[in-house]
Amino acid sequence: MNYPKTFQELIECFEQFPGVGPKTAERYAFYAIKENKITEIENLIKTLSDSLNLIHECSICGMITDQDICDICSDESRSNQLMLVEDCKSIIAYEKTKAFKGRYHILKSLISPTNGIGPEDIGLEKVIDRIRKNNITEVIIAFPANLEGELTSLYIKKVLSKENVKVYQIGYGLPVEASIEYADEITLIKSLESKKEM
Ligand SMILES: [Zn+2]
Repeated sequence: MNYPKTFQELIECFEQFPGVGPKTAERYAFYAIKENKITEIENLIKTLSDSLNLIHECSICGMITDQDICDICSDESRSNQLMLVEDCKSIIAYEKTKAFKGRYHILKSLISPTNGIGPEDIGLEKVIDRIRKNNITEVIIAFPANLEGELTSLYIKKVLSKENVKVYQIGYGLPVEASIEYADEITLIKSLESKKEM
């Protein structure tokens, strides 16, 4: 016999999570229906529902937030440096180092010819808008050290050469292909200290 339909659907829900295979999904599903876990699971359902309702992208920088504008964008003490990053996890990684006091911007995507993502798809117009409106004096590009990161950096450098702004790229002590989120704090601090003007 098979599992009841509802239970099978529960397994399939878990299977959609990254890194969760069929066996793990089955284990999670059994865990979720244990009687002594009811409070825990109800809390999970509530938190999940709140997250879906409240969390969205900051309309300025693209970081996730449960406010209109994220804490970093609302912080007026931040400098006029703007760090361009690939994702939210990069922001959190740099924030943990406390070595960067400027602002951030998450690009819509990095240029990726293999995935059909071209220069017009990365949302650079929003960055240019911020540079012009917010007196940004310095842009620091902090993408992962891979082909997509390099292509995007070069394109951005070319476009921003027409703006009144200095463009830097973080120095890479980062391993090639490694995501910024996995780099340790010392490496991230060094990557800022060794930034190079492009
Ligand atoms: Zn923001």
